[in-house]
Amino acid sequence: MTARHTAIAAIADHRIASNQDYTEHAGEEIYGQYVFHEVAQRQYLAKPIFRRLRRTIDGLEPFDPIIADAVAHGVKEWALSHGATHFTHWFVPMTGSTAEKHDSFLSPVGDGKTIAEFSGNNLLQGEPDASSFPSGGIRATFEARGYTAWDVTSPIFLQVEPNGVTMTIPTAFVSFTGEALDHKIPLLRSQEAVGAEALRVLRWFGNSTTGRVFTNIGPEQEYFLVDRRLAEQRPDLVLTGRTLFGAASPKGQELEDQYFGAIRPRILAFMMDLDRELWRLGIPARTRHNEVAPGQFEMAPVYEPTSVGSDHNMLVLATMRRLAPQHGLAFLVHEKPFAGINGSGKHNNWSMATDDGENLLDPGNDPHENAQFLAFLVAVIRGVNTHADLLRASIADAGNDHRLGANEAPPAIVSIFLGSQLEDVIEQLAKGGATGSKKSGSLELGVTSLPALSKDATDRNRTSPFAFTGNKFEFRAVGSSAPIYWPQTVLNVAVADSLKQLADALDDLEPGDFEGLTTILSQMVRDHKQVLFEGNGYSEEWHAEAEKRGLPNNRTTVDALPALSTDKAKDLFSSFGVLSERELASRAEISWEHYVKVSNIEASCALDMARTMILPAAVQYLGQLAAAGGSRGVLTICDQVSGLVDDLVEKITALADAQHAAHEAGSVHAEAKAFASKVIPAQGELREVADELETVVADDLWPMPKYRELLFVY
Ligand code: ADP
Ligand code: MG
Repeated sequence: MTARHTAIAAIADHRIASNQDYTEHAGEEIYGQYVFHEVAQRQYLAKPIFRRLRRTIDGLEPFDPIIADAVAHGVKEWALSHGATHFTHWFVPMTGSTAEKHDSFLSPVGDGKTIAEFSGNNLLQGEPDASSFPSGGIRATFEARGYTAWDVTSPIFLQVEPNGVTMTIPTAFVSFTGEALDHKIPLLRSQEAVGAEALRVLRWFGNSTTGRVFTNIGPEQEYFLVDRRLAEQRPDLVLTGRTLFGAASPKGQELEDQYFGAIRPRILAFMMDLDRELWRLGIPARTRHNEVAPGQFEMAPVYEPTSVGSDHNMLVLATMRRLAPQHGLAFLVHEKPFAGINGSGKHNNWSMATDDGENLLDPGNDPHENAQFLAFLVAVIRGVNTHADLLRASIADAGNDHRLGANEAPPAIVSIFLGSQLEDVIEQLAKGGATGSKKSGSLELGVTSLPALSKDATDRNRTSPFAFTGNKFEFRAVGSSAPIYWPQTVLNVAVADSLKQLADALDDLEPGDFEGLTTILSQMVRDHKQVLFEGNGYSEEWHAEAEKRGLPNNRTTVDALPALSTDKAKDLFSSFGVLSERELASRAEISWEHYVKVSNIEASCALDMARTMILPAAVQYLGQLAAAGGSRGVLTICDQVSGLVDDLVEKITALADAQHAAHEAGSVHAEAKAFASKVIPAQGELREVADELETVVADDLWPMPKYRELLFVY
């Protein structure tokens, strides 16, 4: 028996370990159990401290360090009561993964004893060595100091492991010079920017009650699960998260029998554990289902304010990664783990809301509300059109290159889908701008008022990267593995830019002058409606049409990233105080470097597997054929395999040469371009030969699990 066959035999005997009594709780009893939420804060903090902390969390006043010691004491008592021994500042450096360093609460008191201590200073600030995190040139290694600062808006939580509990403080990570070294800070800044401009617009509409506008995010997370015993036999899955080789399985997703199909018990057991862990962490996990590809699934939480929702998405991924092995499963969150079947994305549902509970992207019931809705809608349209290049850059990386531009995921062309009803309204607005007038109390905005836009009335378009879905936009082109902070930052800034322009124009307009408003919106629509597209985003016609319209179509990361270095980008980010020129440049640099590093790991891994696994298997088979000799059939196959072996060796050499040449390219930009134009295609050609060999070499000689096993045996 080969290792593959042993694994399959073991999987056949797999029994689901039920390690908890699922009937014990429906969920509400455990919800937020690991979180220092409002109820816990009330219990562990003196009333005046509690009240002031809440005001900061609600964005009403900055945090006053005077209460830090009191808050620290309360949260420590809470954590100790849950068995915590350590605390950590948790942050999201530019690696895109979370980072944490644990300290115990214990501090010696001199008589050979210790006590558990936690000061306000411990809570507010940490000082991790920043030199081993990517900084894109912001910080030389000799100025290694970096600081983490408590993000009061994101709740403190516990990481509970079988043998220990760690109190975890979400933080932002800055350099000694105060520059952002993480994903969180720009997001928080962008929230303020978009909130402030939105408030200006609301004030024009006569809103005097809203204190704050913020954005909400509901990220739908796609992922794969495969059996771990099979996955771990593949160096590519272990090291790169995707299969670099693999012939198509005879059965793929063509029967359309996976999407929304009955969930296998083994997967459901994982999902049950997952939901419970997430609920304990106060993450409102709600939806779970089978996705389109075999072995592919999705989870979606209820939406939350963007900074919390973004942290929570990191925790969702971490929890999936942690729980999958307990169920004998490997969690694959790469954008394209398998060729030939769907990859995974993250649909970011995004909206703007006020602190008094109004969704600004919800069409209202009366003309006044409709006018306000249209103003925000048009602002989003302008923002996405003006900064389509930046939105594309914000989701660009080596993994997502396998989805965008391919015929399965939203295309690399950023366009907006509104649905026919709303598209029609916008068209009328473009044409009839000047006819807006007040008539018998009702407003004409080119249209009498919006038709009742019920959420369910908006049609669906799976091919659009940015779709309006009733009362929110869905940014569908985000990669499954990507932290969502950065795309959300860019979206916030793009919309802030539009809202600012609108608010500036409204400054010159009497409140209530809807005719004037209509003229402004009408012009904005005419200038920016080129970004609207209702048709099939996968089609050839759209690519031609988009080119005619002058919309950017940046197919690869290497095409997309230059957008981050334009004057437009620098002005945009610095004018809203979201990223200084240096901070933006560092982010761009890190993205280029990351692309090169990922591509290089993949090329090295492919070479390793081709040389030491695939070639030996093919040669062994060739030997068997030669030994069998004689028959015409054997000779034919022998010729075929022999030809493929020659090809394989040739392609190995070509890939190695291309990789070597890329390293000599000089700058990281030149290297990235060499990977995109030479190395990745060479790797594709190597794969083609290897995959063909997989279809002819004797099954028992094939040195790694095949697609048909990975995708269907679990
Ligand atoms: P759809 O089927 O239209 O995609 P769902 O109701 O399934 O909508 O929601 C998908 C995701 O969108 C969920 O995470 C949900 O919480 C989120 N969502 C719903 N309304 C909003 C909103 N106003 N702002 C942001 N996200 C939202
Ligand atoms: Mg959706």
